[in-house]
Amino acid sequence: MATDQLTFQNPVERFPEITPPKQDQAEPGLDAELVPQTDRGEHSYRGTGRLQGRRALITGADSGIGAAVAIAFAREGADVALSYLPAEEEDAQYISRVIEESGRTALLLPGDLADAEYCSAVVDEAAAGLGGLDALVNNAGRQISVEQVEDLDDEQWASTFEVNIRAIYRVSKAALRHLEPGATIVNSTSIQAYNPSPHLLDYASTKAAINNFTKGLGQQLAPRGIRVNAVAPGPIWTPLQVSDGQPKDALPDFGKNTPLGRAGQPTELAPAYVFLTSPESSYVIGETLNVNGGTPSP
Ligand code: NAD
Ligand code: MG
Repeated sequence: MATDQLTFQNPVERFPEITPPKQDQAEPGLDAELVPQTDRGEHSYRGTGRLQGRRALITGADSGIGAAVAIAFAREGADVALSYLPAEEEDAQYISRVIEESGRTALLLPGDLADAEYCSAVVDEAAAGLGGLDALVNNAGRQISVEQVEDLDDEQWASTFEVNIRAIYRVSKAALRHLEPGATIVNSTSIQAYNPSPHLLDYASTKAAINNFTKGLGQQLAPRGIRVNAVAPGPIWTPLQVSDGQPKDALPDFGKNTPLGRAGQPTELAPAYVFLTSPESSYVIGETLNVNGGTPSP
């Protein structure tokens, strides 16, 4: 039984060091088929009322980090709209059940963030279904490893930018139709923004763009009482890694090169998103909170 995030414990041992077997899933991967399974906090995240009554839209909320954030938000008292790809229905249904069992509403809104119409509609449907919108988490992303730039084709380059950064611009802009003073936006960026792996040229570039966009939009919206921040995860064990996010040979050692010596679990990211969404972070704007097991970052 996992211990909750408020219990005194050694971070080295809070979760076991994992050595994932080589495995492959078609993009997008499913948490349901990931080996080993991840901890998204369903048995451990304990809320303390920090998001009571909030209405949140979370993209990529079916699995991995987004799923852990969705569970944490619900346990903190928020109702949650989940955006994900139709192929991820199984994962989304599971997270929806966890949210409902936590006593909150889960609204399922499948669609493709590469589609401009969906980027707008998902926001309006979330606001209609939850009775308003005051928290947005732009967390969806795609990551496809390509060793040599000659093999990185135009289509992948465009698609990675479309999903990872253009959708953030589109969804955030649409959300401003609903966000009132006090509302928040949190974007998922990455340690790749400063420390790019040579096989993730397109992906890492979008993450640097997300950091920059966060700082610009944060300044623009601050006078309107809307705060924009980002979270930069390090190596977190999620379906992204096995659906060609990493070279297959790298999977068994995933996350072992961090100062903490192990990969992170999705639930370890959730408190950062909760903090940046909660009113207690009212003076924090345009910030990127690094959650990466100790690797130095600017
Ligand atoms: P994940 O695969 O569980 O989540 C990514 C989600 O993005 C998918 O579940 C999917 O719903 C969504 N998505 C992808 N393409 C989409 C599209 N076209 N339309 C709609 N949704 C789409 O993996 P994760 O690791 O939890 O990733 C969440 C975020 O965290 C991503 O932005 C990722 O870049 C970032 N991140 C992850 C790590 C890590 O080590 N896992 C590290 C740094 C940053
Ligand atoms: Mg998924």
